[in-house]
Amino acid sequence: MRLANLAGRLTLVLDDGRGADVEALSAGAFDADPQAVFGRWGEFLRWASGLDLTDVAGEAFDPAALGPPVPRPRQVFAIGLNYRGHARETGAPIPDRPVVFTKFASCLTGPVTDVVVAGPSIDWEAELVVVIGREARSVSEAEAWDHVAGVTVGNDVSDRDRQTSDPARQWSLGKSLPGYGPTGPWLVTTDALADRDDLALGCSVNGVTVQESRTSDLIFPVSRLVAELSASVTLLPGDLVWTGTPSGVALGRPDKPFLRPGDTLRTWVDGVGELQQRFVAR
Ligand code: ZN
Repeated sequence: MRLANLAGRLTLVLDDGRGADVEALSAGAFDADPQAVFGRWGEFLRWASGLDLTDVAGEAFDPAALGPPVPRPRQVFAIGLNYRGHARETGAPIPDRPVVFTKFASCLTGPVTDVVVAGPSIDWEAELVVVIGREARSVSEAEAWDHVAGVTVGNDVSDRDRQTSDPARQWSLGKSLPGYGPTGPWLVTTDALADRDDLALGCSVNGVTVQESRTSDLIFPVSRLVAELSASVTLLPGDLVWTGTPSGVALGRPDKPFLRPGDTLRTWVDGVGELQQRFVAR
């Protein structure tokens, strides 16, 4: 199942790519607010699995009208250095535990946006983003996926100067500028994925592929991340976990080709969808 935020309304994306409004389809049983569904995720899945969609006429839509599939998560976790090649290219040691920071929720947008280039060191990070569907507290790796509603595509756009400036180095602010968290185009439930632990992902800048990997290369896979995070904090329905980026970021390249106004960034996860960002001057 694919679930989108179409102009602020929870929308089921049908097999033909058209959208069906969930509030209308459910005769008001489920709210139009795309965030509210995570509070009733189990109930929603049961309802959706019983739907007969053969006679549902969806509405065609422009992907630019999509908002973030999870617009107001209560918590956003992001993982750094979670692919060996990326850790190596940044000169960091391979971590023996997940490196955790946050992207503040105000940076989240939908899949097709213009993004302001806020400085000379704006970088891309293609990522698989996991959406929590059921509260998780001290869950085991074996139980972890049962707490996941689905996945979406994200680009953890990063201002490297802000990310690495003294005196107290922290990554979260430089990764949370307005528009620096594009997500979407929709949430895909895990049953709709060929292999939830082995998804191809990547991104291109101006049509040239700069990152290409598979989530099977994650140092800490999704099940481990959910288990580790839930050992410290309670994961809540509708929370996001950005799982980390593979090698190929601008920071890791000899010529440091950071993003500039006029550049276009396309980010994809196979079987999920793609994002399109155009970078513009302030
Ligand atoms: Zn990242």
